[in-house]
Amino acid sequence: MAADIADDWMSLPAAQQPAWPDPDALREVLAFLRSSPPLVYAAECDQLRARLAAVARGEAFLLQAGDCAETFDGVSAEQIDNKLRTILQMAAVLTYAASVPVVKVGRMAGQYAKPRSSEVEIRDGVTLPSYRGDAVNGLAFDQAARVLDPHRLSRMYHASAVTLNLVRAFTTGGYADLRRVHAWNRDFVALSPAGERYESLARQIDSALAFMRSCGPLPREIETVEFYASHEALLLDYEAALTRVDSRSGYLYDVSAHMVWIGERTRQLDGAHVEFAARVRNPIGVKLGPTSTADDALALIDRLDPERQPGRLTFITRMGAGRIRDVLPAFVEKVTASGAQVVWACDPMHGNTYESESGYKTRQFNRILDEIRGFFEVHQYLGTHPGGIHVELTGDDVTECVGGAHEIADADLRQRYETACDPRLNRSQSLELAFMIAEMYGS
Ligand code: PEP
Ligand code: MN
Repeated sequence: MAADIADDWMSLPAAQQPAWPDPDALREVLAFLRSSPPLVYAAECDQLRARLAAVARGEAFLLQAGDCAETFDGVSAEQIDNKLRTILQMAAVLTYAASVPVVKVGRMAGQYAKPRSSEVEIRDGVTLPSYRGDAVNGLAFDQAARVLDPHRLSRMYHASAVTLNLVRAFTTGGYADLRRVHAWNRDFVALSPAGERYESLARQIDSALAFMRSCGPLPREIETVEFYASHEALLLDYEAALTRVDSRSGYLYDVSAHMVWIGERTRQLDGAHVEFAARVRNPIGVKLGPTSTADDALALIDRLDPERQPGRLTFITRMGAGRIRDVLPAFVEKVTASGAQVVWACDPMHGNTYESESGYKTRQFNRILDEIRGFFEVHQYLGTHPGGIHVELTGDDVTECVGGAHEIADADLRQRYETACDPRLNRSQSLELAFMIAEMYGS
């Protein structure tokens, strides 16, 4: 039986919604979105759910990655290609190391809205509304840019469509062939100051590919890649306008992305975000930060995964490197005891953010790695599956996180600090991270 999306849930408290100044313009934009084609098919969402079910069972690994905040200016062939390449390169390394398929999900083609801790931003005595993502207002620190503009929601839809189109072309058009991706990794190893460290793993992948070639024709799977799109389902007007009844099953799907997640600031059990997510059939992620409890996780399972369907629910923990080893075990133990089969993903970014001495919001590469290591340790100790990682990255050579083989220092951050929101791993740091996770499998 299909639930009705135009139902009462919209009257529930919804955190982090923009106070749009122009209700007529908003209505017009939402009508346009409601009559627009879906960005993804419901069947694709089901396929991702099946892939995530394999992750939940311990038979696959999830790599979810992309910008903190995509921007409309960032919708360029170069930036999208670089990001995709980086994610696919990481996935190639992880597939080999984990010896299981890697489910690739981008924080891409829809990650345009941001929750903010403060309504306003104050700089040099000037107070303006906070930037809430390109879906809502502009990043420039001036009054005109920061005006909330509902027309941006239709730009979000178009930017998502254009990005997704390129993602689909890139991943199925022969460009993502595993042999080519591995050649990029070869280049990375040759050029990285830490290259030697990764050389032997790269050589092992060479041998595995050579072995496959000598066995006969390579399977077609090697030439194409399954890639899924995800974003935080923050702006409920937008998400609801892109929610459709699936003609096959009668169920509702949010067709703005294959998977959507609920952020740390909007996961209230009695709030509109959880209610919305409960009504759609997509795979759902929920962020769990240091203020959450294992009982919150159980209550979220009851609301979002009452049928205990593996692959439906992904818990994305973001506890911080200093806490993960202490707090994660209780979550995993209680959830496992409840009988739910969720995906456990580690977001090592959001619990490790701080302001550097030079005034930039940054993250240390070693702290990021340490949270992932703690995540693996906890799961190994409990005999459960470290399902995957959720990271903020770009394929460009930015300087936003400190550390890594190129030893980006606080003083370097100003060189290429380009993020619209949180600091991202650059291409080289992202690949190093993949190689270092690969090493964890060997140890
Ligand atoms: C994010 O993923 O960019 C984010 C805002 O995370 P969280 O909800 O975990 O703070
Ligand atoms: Mn972020």
